[in-house]
Amino acid sequence: MSSLVACWRDEPAKLLIDGALRSGRGGEFTTVNPATEEVLGSAANADGTDLDEAIGAARRAFDETGWARDAARRTRCLRQLGEALRTHSDELRELTVAEAGVPVALTHGPQLDIPIEHLTWFADLADGYAWRRDLGVAAPMGVRSRRTLFAEPAGVVAGITPWNFPHQITFAKLGPALAAGNTVVLKPAPETPWCAAAVGALIAEETDIPPGVVNVVTSADHGIGARLVADTRVDLVSFTGSTATGRSVMAAAAGTLKKVFLELGGKSACVVLDDADLAAACAMAAFMVCTHAGQGCALTTRLLVPRARYDEAVEAAAAAMSRIRCGDPADRRTICGPLISARQRDRVESYLATAADEGGKIVCGGGRPHAKGFYVEPALVAGLTNEARVAREEIFGPVLVVLAHDGDDDAVRIANDSPYGLSGAVHGADPDRARAVAARIRTGTLSVNGAVWYSADVPFGGYKQSGIGREMGVAGFEEYLETKVVAEPA
Ligand code: NAD
Repeated sequence: MSSLVACWRDEPAKLLIDGALRSGRGGEFTTVNPATEEVLGSAANADGTDLDEAIGAARRAFDETGWARDAARRTRCLRQLGEALRTHSDELRELTVAEAGVPVALTHGPQLDIPIEHLTWFADLADGYAWRRDLGVAAPMGVRSRRTLFAEPAGVVAGITPWNFPHQITFAKLGPALAAGNTVVLKPAPETPWCAAAVGALIAEETDIPPGVVNVVTSADHGIGARLVADTRVDLVSFTGSTATGRSVMAAAAGTLKKVFLELGGKSACVVLDDADLAAACAMAAFMVCTHAGQGCALTTRLLVPRARYDEAVEAAAAAMSRIRCGDPADRRTICGPLISARQRDRVESYLATAADEGGKIVCGGGRPHAKGFYVEPALVAGLTNEARVAREEIFGPVLVVLAHDGDDDAVRIANDSPYGLSGAVHGADPDRARAVAARIRTGTLSVNGAVWYSADVPFGGYKQSGIGREMGVAGFEEYLETKVVAEPA
């Protein structure tokens, strides 16, 4: 592949169906650079017939080829995919910055380079996995029987992804799904078709992954995702996106009672205890919410500080936030790029208006810093309680709401008083006390005093309306498996 951005400017990015890179029957749809608002080019627009063929190809590859039973072949292919992605990482980097507005600095971490390495972790896990386990001999109802447990792939997986971490989420699904022996129909978000099409092109051109094992259906139509979920030939849905869409996915999957696992939204709390280094903790919280313009499901968007030091906390967070550059994602110094679309920018601005209507103060930010691009200056909201809409609903932008707490119990109560339960953070000078607070917060991941949980071996996911199931880690791999037990006379 030469520069994909240059190449696809003239010729639309293709679907991958049954091993072939193809146009879409629905024509094409454009993809836009959120930093400039310019059209980058277009991508194939899959229609229902394309989707039907993709699911059919995935079904045949699962049922009629040796893929599901050949673990060594699968891990070889996965390593090969990792190698191809590494070889083309600079093109993928350019593409990701241009299409998703991801700050280039983050592509050297969780937006690209780290998730590529995660594919190798899943290949290693599958190589050492106990696919067959002897459960020993027992005599239930007097019949002596030897029982053997087999871990088997679930079948055809629908992988449905959002736009905010296009590669991280794609690889967190493809890695375990393929290592476990499934076949996949990947349906990326309409905002980032090129990121997914690039992976499809690499699979077709530079790996031995057999036809039909991975199919990539880019489409402007969200309804393609809905059809994929409802299709009887799909065995498992691995969905990442908003809680509202997750609800529809779960309801649609009920018709065929297929397994769903859902990675959804968040409204995570950063709890600062009264013995913490307040200024440092608030500065860190302000910085974190600006990364990728706040478009991260696990970011802590509620800052809970001791009531007696509320004003001091607001000042420290505002000082840190005001120093953040909000600008060109291709600049290595940028951590806060644009929002993905005009729609998303309008949504963030409307939440800031709601905060002001509810009596909140926008301490800093909230404006449009550039004439072009879907930018919003990082904003700090103070003077509200956890009942305010900006404290309860996921905004998905660079907005931090500062709330007061009256001690550890109250902080835990407020942190847990949310429909979400994805992630969070605790800061405190006494590690035992901070750990005790972390233990009471009902979320899937927590950081104490700045420690980082993000890693291939760490299962990630949510409590409550943040999701069902876990992605990554051994638990994330096992989401893609069925369990079979065979009993024989002993
Ligand atoms: P979204 O829910 O609008 O869309 C996600 C995907 O679902 C897209 O591919 C979309 O086309 C598809 N889709 C839309 N309607 C569908 C339907 N009825 N059936 C099946 N598929 C359908 O989300 P988004 O705006 O693309 O992404 C932002 C959201 O994703 C935020 O809420 C964020 O918190 C969440 N997210 C969660 C995680 C996590 O791991 N928990 C990670 C990243 C993003």
